[in-house]
Amino acid sequence: MSAQTTIIIIGAGAAGLIAAKELSDQYKVTVLEARPQAGGRTTTHYPAPGIHIETGAEFVHGELPITLSLLKEAGIPYTPINGDMYLAENGELKQEEAWIEDWDQLLGHMGKAPAATTMQQLLDQYYPAAQYAALREHVSGYVEGYDLADLDKVSVKYLYDEWTLEQGTNYRIDNGYTTLINYLRKDIELITNQTVQHISWEPGHVTIKTQDKTYTASKVLITVPINMLQNESIQFSPALPAYTAAAKQIGWGTVIKFNLLFKQAFWKRDIGFVLSDEEVPVWWTQSENSLVLTGWMGGPRAAGSQTDLLERALHALAKIFNEPNTAELLDQGFVHNWSTEQGIHGGYSYGMPSSESAKAVLTTPVANTLYFAGEALYSGDSPGTVEAALHSGRETAHKIKSPQV
Ligand SMILES: Cc1cc2nc3c(=O)[nH]c(=O)nc-3n(C[C@H](O)[C@H](O)[C@H](O)COP(=O)(O)OP(=O)(O)OC[C@H]3O[C@@H](n4cnc5c(N)ncnc54)[C@H](O)[C@@H]3O)c2cc1C
Repeated sequence: MSAQTTIIIIGAGAAGLIAAKELSDQYKVTVLEARPQAGGRTTTHYPAPGIHIETGAEFVHGELPITLSLLKEAGIPYTPINGDMYLAENGELKQEEAWIEDWDQLLGHMGKAPAATTMQQLLDQYYPAAQYAALREHVSGYVEGYDLADLDKVSVKYLYDEWTLEQGTNYRIDNGYTTLINYLRKDIELITNQTVQHISWEPGHVTIKTQDKTYTASKVLITVPINMLQNESIQFSPALPAYTAAAKQIGWGTVIKFNLLFKQAFWKRDIGFVLSDEEVPVWWTQSENSLVLTGWMGGPRAAGSQTDLLERALHALAKIFNEPNTAELLDQGFVHNWSTEQGIHGGYSYGMPSSESAKAVLTTPVANTLYFAGEALYSGDSPGTVEAALHSGRETAHKIKSPQV
């Protein structure tokens, strides 16, 4: 490949930035980003000295090779996470291992289900009766809350693989994921506030139009969230109908994340996770000494613009911790509704029965000129994570470096 080859990368999240880092030694690379800053779904907010909150990604879910090796390479400190799991029932917290009754039996059915089965079909087959109402409700809460998924669409195989994986130790990055983003974006040409609307292409040449500028390059790597491809918010000429159809075969869920800074730690313990039946059902602490409680409302109920979110979160906490004064004890509250976030409009992807074949389409380069990457195109043990995005971005950069003949 000649030194003249230019590459435009669309999206400055983890996938786009690692690809830019990998490609910059060989090509002239420019990253175009719709938002005012890099990071995408990994965005740390620093509201006061010594305090940071993760509005998006927060955990390193296990011994993840790319994430941890980048942190080591960059000298960025990270810390293992402790904390127990609790169930909230009638104002009391009970330490528990499992949220779903008959968990082992449920996993047994899931492990044997045909590949095309959705979770709703499995529940209807094995747990149809009214006597299973509680189990159905808890499964649905878990699938929607943790995987952000629709029961009607999510593949049982996807959930089974995820739920049975031994994660090992989880970590947090001491000063937030943004420190990793800052490391990746060092020395990269990044242009923010550029929303790509149109890409016209022929082999070896692309013309990219944003809301106010036109760019040209030899190749383009598109790392926008999968829903942007589903909604065709970027138009291609010639069109790529097989790619658009494939994007629609990948599940996309959303989430609202609450970071509430209190004047005192009324929860009085380090909480790995507390699960409840409240409207904002899942909460956790940052560390034993932290004054921040983080809340999580995922899945269909987190979609769209919403009102009174802070009040609803405080109400849930009052019930879970049997603490009537949550509003008076609140110092500052930060609420991030990801379904309304510019350039993202959601949380992360999940597997539907046809997702793996859809990913095979989307990861096939178009005429060695158009490439796609991002969290949703990853196949492996860490779906829906920053690791997934890094893996996909790096792998696609390697494909660009070794074009198919
Ligand atoms: C609330 C929340 C919590 C999470 N928690 C965790 C966690 O604890 N651990 C974990 O590992 N993962 C977590 N994740 C998932 C993780 O953040 C993502 O998987 C990962 O950051 C995705 O990276 P990406 O580069 O694929 O996409 P993104 O980070 O979404 O980057 C894509 C970029 O493309 C830009 N873009 C979109 N359209 C255009 C356009 N037309 N023109 C130009 N730019 C455009 C977007 O603005 C965005 O910056 C969480 C996600 C959310 C939302």
